[in-house]
Order: sequence, then C-alpha cells, then structure tokens
Amino acid sequence: MLLTFDDGYANNAEVVLPILWKHGFPATLYVSTGLIHTPGYLTWPQIRELSAAHWDIASHTVTHPHLPRLSKKAQRAEILAARARIEQELGRPADTFAYPYGEYNRATLRILRKAGFRYAFTTQAGWASSDQPPLELHRIVVDSQKPFEDWVQQLTDATST
Ligand SMILES: [Zn+2]
Repeated sequence: MLLTFDDGYANNAEVVLPILWKHGFPATLYVSTGLIHTPGYLTWPQIRELSAAHWDIASHTVTHPHLPRLSKKAQRAEILAARARIEQELGRPADTFAYPYGEYNRATLRILRKAGFRYAFTTQAGWASSDQPPLELHRIVVDSQKPFEDWVQQLTDATST
C-alpha cells in the first residue's frame, strides 16, 4: 500500500503527517516545486520535516501545467527542473513522478524513460499492478467531498476486480 499526496499543500505537513506518524505510515509527496512557499502550500523546512519522517519526496513538475499542451522541450524542463531541485534540496533521489491532472502524451513518456524515472502515477482509477506499464500506474483517488464510507467501498470494489 502506497499513500500518495499531490501538489504540496501545507496541510500535508500540518494535518496528515502527525496522523500518519502516529500509525507508522510513511507516504509519498508529489510536489510542484514552483508552488513551494506560496500561500497554502508547503515550505522547504516542512518538506524536510516530511522527508525526515521517511516520506519520499518526488516530482509533480514545476508549475503544474497540462503537459500535453507543451512542446517536448518545455515538458522536459518542467519535469527535470523539479526533480533536480528536490534532489538538490534533500540529497535523495526523486526518480518517480505523478502527472499533473493525470495528463501525458508519448513525448512525456519518452522524457521520463530517458531520464531513468522508475515509475509514474496517472489518475486512472484503480489499484496499481505489475501488468501496467511502470510509467502508467493507476491510483485510487480519495475525494475529500465524499463520505469516508464511499472511499472504503471504492477500495473494496477495486480489490475484487
Ligand atoms: Zn496535481
């Protein structure tokens, strides 16, 4: 089971971290580095705190763009600059990825493959599994507007398929 949190909202450190720490769960943060230190988003000291609590910190681009609308060159800059910044700040590999809005095209996949990213998450609903391409893994999305019971049901449904 892997818990992933996208974008880098401040509540990941303020609310999520203490709860998961209490239960002994790490998580993965997919952060858009251009949002760091803007209102409502994490700061680098908070991200270091998550990293120290065994969270993996990885790339969700710099500016959270719709990647397929960008040139290949611009996509590469978005993807690699975010990874480089995280690795520079934390001194740990940031070689996995989550697509902003779940959007990607063939150029995106080529960039990730060439740069040696190990796996990447889409927003395709369902469990990730070994028969999915590593750069196109599925996830079960938690919708905060829906009741907790719905999410439990979603997990159960996904298990049985
Ligand atoms: Zn996002």
